[in-house]
Amino acid sequence: MNRRTVQDYIRTIPDFPHEGIMFRDVTTLFNDPRGFRMAIDLLLHPYAGMDIDRVVGLEARGFILGGAVAHQLAVGFVPIRKKGKLPHDRIEQDYTLEYGTATVEIHTDAIQPGETVLIVDDLLATGGTAEAGIKLIERLGGKVAGCAFVVDLPDLGGRKRLEALGVDVHALCA
Ligand code: 5GP
Repeated sequence: MNRRTVQDYIRTIPDFPHEGIMFRDVTTLFNDPRGFRMAIDLLLHPYAGMDIDRVVGLEARGFILGGAVAHQLAVGFVPIRKKGKLPHDRIEQDYTLEYGTATVEIHTDAIQPGETVLIVDDLLATGGTAEAGIKLIERLGGKVAGCAFVVDLPDLGGRKRLEALGVDVHALCA
């Protein structure tokens, strides 16, 4: 019997959102009950025995995955959002994109000093988004136990970049 892997549920869309980009579309993974459950189970597996205090999801697909992982670990969920979306006291972190910069934010009371945090997102490319998330968490006194992704695009260097910061990187497929 051929069992489908997480990778089998993800489709690749050529030239989205720009010509030359092969976009990994994870909505098909989210839409399949077996695929989605498998992805959540595998994402949290390395961290299940650790004392994780919070799961942080990176906007926007990290909210879908991170919310489910937080539920399974029975811990709270914290969103890191693009600038201008969070209503309460917050800190911000800039990071570099292929063209220009972007800014993400976190509520200052979302993580307490000394807490252990797991970051979740759908895809690791250059690692810029996740690095900005790590910086925000560490500025609040949190410790990042790991970053869990469904897809890692190793040619773009994200894993090396995050591991150089001393953070564990876990990905389900390339
Ligand atoms: P990075 O900051 O590592 O360069 O880019 C990762 C971020 O961009 C993630 O938040 C991810 O959601 C988004 N991203 C970049 N390329 C893709 C892609 O091909 N598919 C999906 N689903 N997300 C992508």
